[in-house]
Amino acid sequence: MPELPEVETVVRGLRPVLTGKTITAVRVGPKALRFPWPESFADRLTGRRVQALSRRAKSVVIALDDDQVWLAHLGMTGRFVAEAAGGVHQPGAFYDASPRQPGHDHLSLDLSGGGRLIYNDVRRFGYMKLMAAADLEAAFATLGAEPLDPALTPEALYDLCHRKTMAIKPVIMDQRLLVGVGNIYASEALFLARIDPSRSAQSMSLADWRVLLAAIQQVLSQAIAAGGSTLRDYAQIDGQRGGYQAHFQVYDRAGEPCPHCQTPIQKRTQTGRSTFYCATCQT
Ligand SMILES: [Zn+2]
Repeated sequence: MPELPEVETVVRGLRPVLTGKTITAVRVGPKALRFPWPESFADRLTGRRVQALSRRAKSVVIALDDDQVWLAHLGMTGRFVAEAAGGVHQPGAFYDASPRQPGHDHLSLDLSGGGRLIYNDVRRFGYMKLMAAADLEAAFATLGAEPLDPALTPEALYDLCHRKTMAIKPVIMDQRLLVGVGNIYASEALFLARIDPSRSAQSMSLADWRVLLAAIQQVLSQAIAAGGSTLRDYAQIDGQRGGYQAHFQVYDRAGEPCPHCQTPIQKRTQTGRSTFYCATCQT
């Protein structure tokens, strides 16, 4: 499933493809995605010029020139594929390892300049929304902070969490607190911060939060930096995994030696999800 770094990579890949382009024609397939297509979706997109692309949590946010915003969520297997006028190019907008599945193109946009943008989604858990720009903030009202937002401080996280008795790992994965810290990144960040994933959130000092927030930001930034190339390779290596896993220090490495101390990495289940950690380094 695409996580924050993959969606950020998609946004960065789509930005040069879409920004400033006018959508000249829209074809919507016969099947609904996770939700029905927005009413008059094709009509409302046709003729619009794309002003800017951004990301909020795992949504691609596409601002149009009539104060509408098009939100795209990739679900499990959604991907955008851009075709330039001169041939196919893939602007880092792939996530899934398999080749684009024929028969699963659900949306196709013609762009000024001759390019084309296709949305392909085998499992159709993705979805699209179209709303007034003024309604965007309300649509995201339940979401927590963006971990890479420079305005986010360790003090803010400490204040929100210092009475929580839950373990720190599910706390940092709670999207109402912090968006985009998925299961892989939670294990990796806690390892980097040398914090035991089972420690209660209320045991975290402000100094601990400083270390942990920096670790979360480092892990996500590295994944985004690797995203452009590894996600492209990802589609070529094998059916399940790509170069991405080369970055993992502990995730999915149970029994392998800790990179710091050689103690075998342990695996434990927390709130139904696998956690990987070093019992020696993480306290
Ligand atoms: Zn260790």
